[in-house]
Amino acid sequence: MTLITGLGAALALGAPVLKRSDVAFMYQASRDTYRQYGATVLAWGGTPTPATLAEAEGVRWFGSVGMVTEFAAYFDRFPDTYKEGLCRDVNGEPVKVPWLTDHQHKGVPYWWCCTRQPNTRTFLRERVVQTIKAGAYGLHVDDHLGTSGGLWLGICFCDRCISGFRDHLRSLSKDDLARLGIADPGSYDFRSSAREWIGGAAGRKVTGHPVWPEWEVYQCRAAAEFMMELRKLATEAAGRPVPVGANAGLLWPRHLADYQALDLFTAETDHHASERKPSDAPILAYRIAEAVGRPYASTASGWDWAYIKEHNLPGLVRCWIALSYASGQRLMAPHHQWCYTTEKGTHWYDGPAERFAPLYRFVRDNADLFDGYETYADVRLIMPHRGFVRDPGAWIEKARKLSAANLSFSIILAGDRIVSKPVSDADLAGPTPIVMCDQDDLEPADAARLSVRTKRASFKTFPNVEQALASLKPAARCEGDRPVRVLARLKGGAASVHLLNYAYDAARDDVTPMDDVAVTLDLARLGVKGATRCRLISPGHAPVGLPIERGIVTVPRLGLWGVLQIGRMGATARSW
Ligand SMILES: [Zn+2]
Repeated sequence: MTLITGLGAALALGAPVLKRSDVAFMYQASRDTYRQYGATVLAWGGTPTPATLAEAEGVRWFGSVGMVTEFAAYFDRFPDTYKEGLCRDVNGEPVKVPWLTDHQHKGVPYWWCCTRQPNTRTFLRERVVQTIKAGAYGLHVDDHLGTSGGLWLGICFCDRCISGFRDHLRSLSKDDLARLGIADPGSYDFRSSAREWIGGAAGRKVTGHPVWPEWEVYQCRAAAEFMMELRKLATEAAGRPVPVGANAGLLWPRHLADYQALDLFTAETDHHASERKPSDAPILAYRIAEAVGRPYASTASGWDWAYIKEHNLPGLVRCWIALSYASGQRLMAPHHQWCYTTEKGTHWYDGPAERFAPLYRFVRDNADLFDGYETYADVRLIMPHRGFVRDPGAWIEKARKLSAANLSFSIILAGDRIVSKPVSDADLAGPTPIVMCDQDDLEPADAARLSVRTKRASFKTFPNVEQALASLKPAARCEGDRPVRVLARLKGGAASVHLLNYAYDAARDDVTPMDDVAVTLDLARLGVKGATRCRLISPGHAPVGLPIERGIVTVPRLGLWGVLQIGRMGATARSW
């Protein structure tokens, strides 16, 4: 992992590759559509051509390379030897890509290919070079975890994976090997061991094998190393640093494995459309991205879009757009979305641009409400990657509880043997209270650093989210238990307090406007002590000046989304 850190630092690009006010497209569109939305980035485009680049003038183009979706092109590259690159299960059988079972190429199903196999690696390397040489500004990688993305399917037991594991085992200490019950790493054959173990009792799956957790570490590290290799290759092909994004849905376990090879996350993220109400789950993904200092361009999942299409709910999508920008990230413009259900397979949703584009234009027209602002947090959560992988749902639930109470949170990510992310002194600086985690999930150095910090008598910690909720008051909150999410963002003596109307009615597919919404602000904690006026800025409405009286602002009418812009006492404040 040291090597990865070193390369990552050498290729670091400096400033984040996306601004908070950027409007990212997922797939290519026409010039008129880009303009309609105010597009600035194409985050998941194809291989560009001179014509498509001209169409996208002024839009930064990330060209996509897919590790499992491009089987047809892989087959055509190696028609006689394609089988050599396939992943193998414990019985030596190839494995179909579960969400591409409706796809075939020349009568061959879409098999999952192993990123340790020379054919697969050659194909992907050529695709990266081709994409960059065609004029892409950045690289996007879909299914970036390669072989390790299919761990849940019990792969891969190809010869390369088996022999590589011996090298991995050789790097372990004697104690670790003893713990795994492996006497001689040089001759260990995980395939034979796994088959024997499965045969030992009924109902056993290979993912339950005692050595499987070490196998996961090995496979995830290989994925990160390969992504770092592709990153370096892209830079060499371009003769300049090339920003790299990946479909790293951060609510899915292990998708942070290669974060050091990435400049942004361009990722599918579950929005729970079938619950027919706005979901707070994406906030956790947005905060995790923030914790590793990378921007996030989200889209909903294929099944979310399938639900939106079937039930015609663009109004719910509008809630997702507002939530993303209010959280400092961005939902990609939903002009053409991949839908997936097991019954229908792949299909597409082309939603009404007239409902979506005005929200993106609002962001572009008010970029100064977004750019440079950072999340204000009432509380910080220590999130060990190990604990998140074990139970992502528990962490989504913590985030949901905090969000529902408008207790704004940030994440301090603590790494493990898969994710290299030590807790730093900077992570722990400042007086913001911390919700602790299960200490056993922390690396010893992180546990020690945390202990030094939290032992100070004046430093407030909570054993769990429930106690934080019982003790802390949000610095920005809505009075009267109304369904409003309040998300404050700060920038050197100014605050943007985003108000999201959660009174969404699926029957009408719209939010019900709320009158006289009282928002209580702790101006000192928000860095705007002494402010007496603010501006309410809402999509589709002229800005309105409002008084702040005894820390309370009353918003006369809240539609989908309003932003209270609060400056210090000064020139701007007086002019409102
Ligand atoms: Zn393999």
